[in-house]
Amino acid sequence: MIASQLLEPKSLLTTWEDIGGLTETIKELRETVILPLINRKLFNSRLLQPPKGVLLHGPPGCGKTLLARATASESGMQFINLQVSILTDKWYGESQKLAAAVFSLAVKIQPCIVFIDEIDCFLRTRTGFDHEATAMMKSQFLSLWDGIATRNDCMVVVMGATNRPSDLDSAILRRMPCVFRVNLPNQPQRESILRLMLRNESVSDDVNLETLAGRTDGFSGSDLYELCRTAAITRVREVCNSGNMPLPDGLRAMTKVDFDVALKKLK
Ligand code: ATP
Repeated sequence: MIASQLLEPKSLLTTWEDIGGLTETIKELRETVILPLINRKLFNSRLLQPPKGVLLHGPPGCGKTLLARATASESGMQFINLQVSILTDKWYGESQKLAAAVFSLAVKIQPCIVFIDEIDCFLRTRTGFDHEATAMMKSQFLSLWDGIATRNDCMVVVMGATNRPSDLDSAILRRMPCVFRVNLPNQPQRESILRLMLRNESVSDDVNLETLAGRTDGFSGSDLYELCRTAAITRVREVCNSGNMPLPDGLRAMTKVDFDVALKKLK
């Protein structure tokens, strides 16, 4: 039951190929996380042990979850996606059991990444106002985490993502020695992301992706996805509204006008 709820099916696999514009971050993730994990013989020195905690932080929709998923699939690790709401919605006692079950499952199926999105909602700075149950759950989580961290033979990595790293407890930050900042994409990065998102689409010659990237300053990867989706759907709507039967075999290419309209809508 718990395994089927938490373990992500392989069909959701993400690879580096699915991520645009984050070449440097991917390179660093490979060097500091993946290589030490998959080459235990080469990295057997104490100084080169793979990290047991990795933090990805930055604005929403910029690829933190994609990076975590791809790290798992590129290193052949299982991926447990621990939704904070699952832990915090449970009754006291039940959530403690769940936390213990997560770590025990991770150890059983290792190598494994335990991914916690919005980790700040769960493991934020401890205050005097924390409910007793919350405080207990946090310290139990930390001791379970320490349990895997002290075992050199254990290939379980906790990966957290947050938009607000400053809200994180210093005890958590200490357990996450590898920290990656994932910023809003700059113009060349936006162009790479657009190129990736449109790689299998039919796009007319009047669409210049460099110019489009220049017009989307401040867009996240997720905003760019929404832009492409909005532009793409215009053609479907046209077909539906034409009332022509039978439906055509294919859709027309996406044009500059489709992107202009989509941009106007989104902005
Ligand atoms: P949040 O902080 O809101 O959880 P996030 O940083 O984890 O956001 P993701 O969930 O990884 O963001 O990205 C959301 C969607 O945006 C992805 O499914 C993908 O469609 C698109 N996306 C974001 N960044 C990129 C990127 N660098 N390359 C390709 N697609 C991207």
